[in-house]
Amino acid sequence: MLTQHNAFDAMQARLRVAAELYGLEDALFKVFIQPKRSMIVSLPVHMDDGHWEVFTGYRIQHNVARGPAKGGIRFDPGVTYDEISAGAAWNTWKTAVVDVPFGGGKGGIICDPSAMSQGELERLTRRYTAEVMDVIGPDRDVPGIDMGTNAQTMAWVLDTYNMHARVHANAVVTGKPVGLGGSLGRAEATGRGVLISAREAMQRLGKPLAGATLAIQGFGNVGNQSARLLHEAGARMVAVSDQRGAIRNDRGIDVHALLKYHSETRTVVGFKGAEPMDPAELLTMAVDILVPAATDNQITEHNAAKVRAKVVVEGANGPTSPEADPILLSNGVLVVPDILANAGGVTVSYFEWVQNRNGYYWREREVNERLVEYMTHAFQAVFATTDKYKTNPRIGAYILALDRVSLAMHYRGFYA
Ligand code: NAD
Repeated sequence: MLTQHNAFDAMQARLRVAAELYGLEDALFKVFIQPKRSMIVSLPVHMDDGHWEVFTGYRIQHNVARGPAKGGIRFDPGVTYDEISAGAAWNTWKTAVVDVPFGGGKGGIICDPSAMSQGELERLTRRYTAEVMDVIGPDRDVPGIDMGTNAQTMAWVLDTYNMHARVHANAVVTGKPVGLGGSLGRAEATGRGVLISAREAMQRLGKPLAGATLAIQGFGNVGNQSARLLHEAGARMVAVSDQRGAIRNDRGIDVHALLKYHSETRTVVGFKGAEPMDPAELLTMAVDILVPAATDNQITEHNAAKVRAKVVVEGANGPTSPEADPILLSNGVLVVPDILANAGGVTVSYFEWVQNRNGYYWREREVNERLVEYMTHAFQAVFATTDKYKTNPRIGAYILALDRVSLAMHYRGFYA
């Protein structure tokens, strides 16, 4: 029977496997299988044409044993409670995998930012911030950017929070503009983490990154930064897609020319230096590295057997379904799981929070060097755990995270 997972089911399925293999005690499993706290808010917003619209927003915290919750705010028409819960849980595991002192949170609003004016988006963001004010803060829960939100959104959250709290706390959000306390290197951090993961994975296969062929699904923040950095490291991008279509050029796509074209047109479709192709075929091309950097549930039981990439580096959250995991494993595809591969973003968010709290700012070179240190260390820890438990890297990453979060839970004890 074919299964269609929602993101939270997919998280729980992996958690079950990892918990059993690790031997997680039942009490902790019951704690981790659901969010710790969920807030649902209703947000009346005065629209430009004079009518009032009421939006639904969420802020969900999965676990805070290791530190304040951390996680982006997503603006998207497809936002659901389950999707945000999954994101919050993934952030618990992700922050533990890269070993930064945060827990897992996530927020979202059901809205279509592409159909809203800047004024409407500002009013929506401020109303949301005022509603979730009691649960966020530098020591409680630190929102950041996700799909549909950007540095400007974070600036509005920061301002609204500070106005209400009567403080100047720029550590309340990450991903804000550099002129407002944002970190150098944050905008490309997730892509840089993908680059580091791809390099480490290729090294495990005994192959250099230079000259490796590459296909990327999605050309937003993660996709285009990954494309640029991997191209600059010598990889040859032969295919790329976005929501509107896909393009390919077996001799290699000129990534800098594509970035310029994309900044003018907001799509990769129609780029002169490549041919159009079927977007579904991109995922099954015979390339060295495949980076799904668009959305969840893209590699499933329907197409996993056809995936011919040697390495899959999951730039997106949840791009592979639980049924696809064993198929990829038995076909020898090395998967760098999302909670490791795209953790560069949360790592530099942590650096941003540290810089804000110190009031002392690092040069970009320092940010990038520290990111390499955190990511390579995490990569090695995930693969050591994978080998120890004789499992696949995704379950290895979950076990590493479970071990670190459980340890913190034990030190704290259960308050009843
Ligand atoms: P984004 O909105 O900037 O870009 C998404 C891209 O994917 C766009 O190019 C869009 O056209 C494309 N896309 C959407 N659906 C597609 C489909 N079905 N086929 C092909 N392309 C499609 O978002 P982003 O910030 O780049 O995030 C992408 C993914 O990475 C999400 O899963 C997000 O949660 C995850 N992620 C992002 C960050 C970050 O720092 N931005 C960090 C960690 C994880």
